[in-house]
Amino acid sequence: MTTRITHLIGNKPWDGVADRTSEIYNPATGEVTGALDLADKQLVDEVVETAATAAKEWGRLSIAKRTKILFRFRELLDAHKEDIARTIVAEHGKTFADAVGEINRGLEVVEFACGIGSITQGGFNENVSTEVDAYSLRQPLGVAAVISPFNFPAMVPLWFVPVAIATGNAVVIKPSEKDPTAVNQIAELWSEAGLPDGVINVVHGDKEAVDALLDNPKVASVSFVGSTPIARYVYERGVQAGKRVQALGGAKNHMLVLPDADLDLAADAAVNAGFGAAGERCMAISAVLAVDAIADELVGKITERMARLTTGEGNQDGVDMGPLVTKDHLDKVTGYVAAGEAAGAELVVDGRNGEWVGGSSDGFFLLPTLFDKVTPEMSIYRDEIFGPVLSVLRVPGFDAALQLINDNPFGNGTTIFTNDGGAARRFQSEVQVGMVGINVPIPTPMAYHSFGGWKSSLFGDTHAHGMHGVHFFTKTKAVTARWLDPSHGGLNLGFPQND
Ligand code: NAD
Repeated sequence: MTTRITHLIGNKPWDGVADRTSEIYNPATGEVTGALDLADKQLVDEVVETAATAAKEWGRLSIAKRTKILFRFRELLDAHKEDIARTIVAEHGKTFADAVGEINRGLEVVEFACGIGSITQGGFNENVSTEVDAYSLRQPLGVAAVISPFNFPAMVPLWFVPVAIATGNAVVIKPSEKDPTAVNQIAELWSEAGLPDGVINVVHGDKEAVDALLDNPKVASVSFVGSTPIARYVYERGVQAGKRVQALGGAKNHMLVLPDADLDLAADAAVNAGFGAAGERCMAISAVLAVDAIADELVGKITERMARLTTGEGNQDGVDMGPLVTKDHLDKVTGYVAAGEAAGAELVVDGRNGEWVGGSSDGFFLLPTLFDKVTPEMSIYRDEIFGPVLSVLRVPGFDAALQLINDNPFGNGTTIFTNDGGAARRFQSEVQVGMVGINVPIPTPMAYHSFGGWKSSLFGDTHAHGMHGVHFFTKTKAVTARWLDPSHGGLNLGFPQND
C-alpha cells in the first residue's frame, strides 16, 4: 500500500487532484511506498499568495509573541524527533542515529532563532547632530522560498526556516521530491506551536514548481541547497527576477594528512567522514590527500577500519551505513567505481561485493569502497560522487596538497590532520574553502556561526544561519530623527550637515 503525500497550504493538506505525481521508495527494500503530488505553476502561485497575505500580519507581530511560538516549536520538535527520524530512515535510508542527529543540528538553529530579540537589534546613536538621533531597523522581506535537497530532509530546511520565520517572514518550502514527508511533519509542528496559518507552507514538486517560485514576483528571497548546476541555475534565474538568492551547491571535500598527524585519529576521521550517511553529505570527505611518507600506513589503517563497518537497513541495531537514496543514484555511483578501475586507480576495497543486513536484495546498497593512487585527472576525483567511495591521492607534501585543494572548483569543506600548529595555521589562512577543520573530520559550523562554501559550492553572498541568516532574511532601514522643539524650524535648502 502506498501513502499519498501532498502539499500543506495555510496549515491544511491540499484537497485537489494532482495532474502529476512521483514515486517515493524505501531505499532499503526498493519498494514504492508513497505517491507525491507535484505542484504546477498555478498551485505554486496560490501558495505564494497565501504566504504573502500571512506575511503582512506576521511581520508586524511583536518579538515577544514570535519568540513564544519559537520556544514552543523547539519543545515540540525535540519531543517528536524520533518519529520524524523514522520517516527519514524510511525515505532516505540513513541510519536512525544519523537521522536523529540531523534533527538535533536543526534544533540548534531553532535555539539560535529563539534569541531573535538580541540578534535583530539595530544600532542607535543619540545626538548625531544637534538633537538628531540615528538608528537602524531590520525588517522582514515578505515571502521567503526554501528549496532543499534529498540528503538532509529535515536539517537543511531547518537551516533557513526558523531564522526566516523569527525575523517576520512567511515561508514556502519546496522539499526534495525523493524524501518529502519529514518537512510536512515539521510544518505541522509549527502550526501546533501556534504559528498563524499561512506563515509556513509546503509545496511539493520538481523543476516546474521551482521555476514557478523563481518567477513569482511576490517571492522576495530564495534559499536553495542542491547540486552545483541547479544551484547556479537557481541563482541566475532568481537574481534576474530581482530576488535575493543564496544557492548552496555541491562539494568535493579534501582531508590532508601530514606525516606528523596522529594516524589513528586521521584514519577514524577518514572513515567516519567518508562513509557516514553513505557519503551522501555535502561535508563528506571524498578525497584523502596522504603525504607519501605515511600513505601506505594510512591506507592500511583505513582499510582495517572499513572491515569493521556494517551496512544495512537504517533501523537495524549495529548498522553504520544505509543504502543510497534511489536506484538511479546507486547506478551512478557504481558507474564511478567502474570508471575508477578503468582509469587505473587501485581498488583496495570493492563495495560492490558484500552483504548487508536487513532490507532486501532489491535495496539500493553499495558497501564502503576505497581507491588508492587516484590521480587528479580521474573522474572519481574530479566529480562529486555523493556515495560511499573514498579516494586516496598521494602527495609529496603540504604545498602540493594545498595547490590541489585550491585548484579544485568546489570549496565547501576541508580538513587537515597534523600536530604542527604552524602548518595548520597556514592551511586555515591560505586554503580557498569556506569551512575548515583542524583535526576534526566534519567542520560543520554551529548554528550561531554561518554555514557556506566558496567557489562552485555557493552562489550568492550570504551563508546559511548565524548572523548571515539574519542579514539574508531582513532588510535594513536607517532612520534619522529629530523631535522638534517648537522654537526650531525655518527654511534651509542646504545639504544636511552635522552642526
Ligand atoms: P538536486 O540539485 O538534484 O536537487 C535539489 C533541489 O532542486 C530539489 O528540491 C529538486 O527538486 C530541485 N531541482 C532538481 N532539478 C531541478 C531543475 N532542473 N530545475 C529546478 N530545480 C531542480 O540535489 P540533490 O540530489 O537533491 O542533493 C544532493 C546535492 O546537494 C549534492 O550535490 C550535495 O553536495 C548538495 N548539497 C549541498 C549542500 C551545501 O551546503 N553546499 C548541502 C546539502 C546538499
